[in-house]
Amino acid sequence: MEQLRCFMAGNQTPALTDRFSRPLHDLRISVMDRCNFRCPYCMPEATYHEHFRFLEPKERLSFDEIERVARVAVSLGVRKLRLTGGEPLLRPKLPELVARLASIEGVEDIALTTNGVLLERHVQDLKEAGLNRVTVSLDSLDPAVFARMSGGRAQLEPVLEAIEAAQTIGFSGGVKLNTVVQRGLNDAGVEALAERFRHSGVVLRFIEYMDVGTRNHWERAEVVPSRELRERIDARWPLEPVDAHYRGEVAQRYRYCDGAGEVGFISSVTAPFCGDCSRARLSSEGQLYTCLFASEGRDLRTLLRSDADDAALRDLLAGVWRRRTDRYSEERAASSDAPARRRIEMNYIGG
Ligand code: SAM
Ligand code: SF4
Ligand code: SF4
Repeated sequence: MEQLRCFMAGNQTPALTDRFSRPLHDLRISVMDRCNFRCPYCMPEATYHEHFRFLEPKERLSFDEIERVARVAVSLGVRKLRLTGGEPLLRPKLPELVARLASIEGVEDIALTTNGVLLERHVQDLKEAGLNRVTVSLDSLDPAVFARMSGGRAQLEPVLEAIEAAQTIGFSGGVKLNTVVQRGLNDAGVEALAERFRHSGVVLRFIEYMDVGTRNHWERAEVVPSRELRERIDARWPLEPVDAHYRGEVAQRYRYCDGAGEVGFISSVTAPFCGDCSRARLSSEGQLYTCLFASEGRDLRTLLRSDADDAALRDLLAGVWRRRTDRYSEERAASSDAPARRRIEMNYIGG
């Protein structure tokens, strides 16, 4: 069996690290490449039209296969799992998968990122299955802007109702909102979002528009730097920084000085955080990626559908992580433009 480069952590659990000493701590699992939205920054309608070829159900990893990868990843140090997509709630019986993952010894946190449209009808089952936290993506409170940001596929009201339902049911890790800000599209609505969710207990996080994939035709000019947003919000409702909860936390956290709660900023473009990146990603097709901006992954599905045992899967995963040198966002920050290379699309790799 391949020798792992390990160190003994305080609890005597051997931890796997990559070439930059970053541990493997999080696994993001894309359970569905399809989506019921067509956000222009992620799945623009021009590409993801009615003839676009998504995966066939048999091409997607089954729940058995996902659970097996998760189990092995946990044996290598993963403690947090996040289900994403595409739209994860388009995957039938998702609560069943949550329950299976929650039963894996060593899993400390299971989260879901969703556009919210199907959340209200599943939220109770998800909670009962063991989901710890929910993140709903919400780009605007203006119905017309919201419609535009979802590619004309959705209405605002069901998403707001789902956020309330999630709050009412309550999740131990809380309810968060993700807002991708694209200049000229939804940036004027930032204060309205902040105002609406102050005092609500929901933590709003503004995400810089990223060059994930190539189909969104990303341009740096459309990125609104977090600093600009923070200054705008701070001018109305003064903010003070909050310490990170843990190493590798992606959002820079702030609290309202008047006690109205927290707001966060995810600044992958202007303040990259590759140095602490401990996330691996599993695509719905079973490719393993070690960076959101990867050009290629490592096929796990062939091994999963062969006679190979868990030790072989473990060796494969460990070997990929041990050789990892990804630091795309830091490289982007060091140049005037995005490094020119093929990048896997967001709906496929999982956000
Ligand atoms: N469909 C679900 C949703 O929208 O929440 C889950 C998948 S989506 C790919 C995960 C997250 O990635 C969402 O919060 C979305 O806003 C974010 N995202 C997608 N494309 C992005 C981009 N180009 N830049 C920044 N964030 C992006
Ligand atoms: Fe769908 Fe989420 Fe991408 Fe929007 S961001 S197109 S909701 S996967
Ligand atoms: Fe991690 Fe890649 Fe993002 Fe850097 S660019 S933080 S390595 S996913």
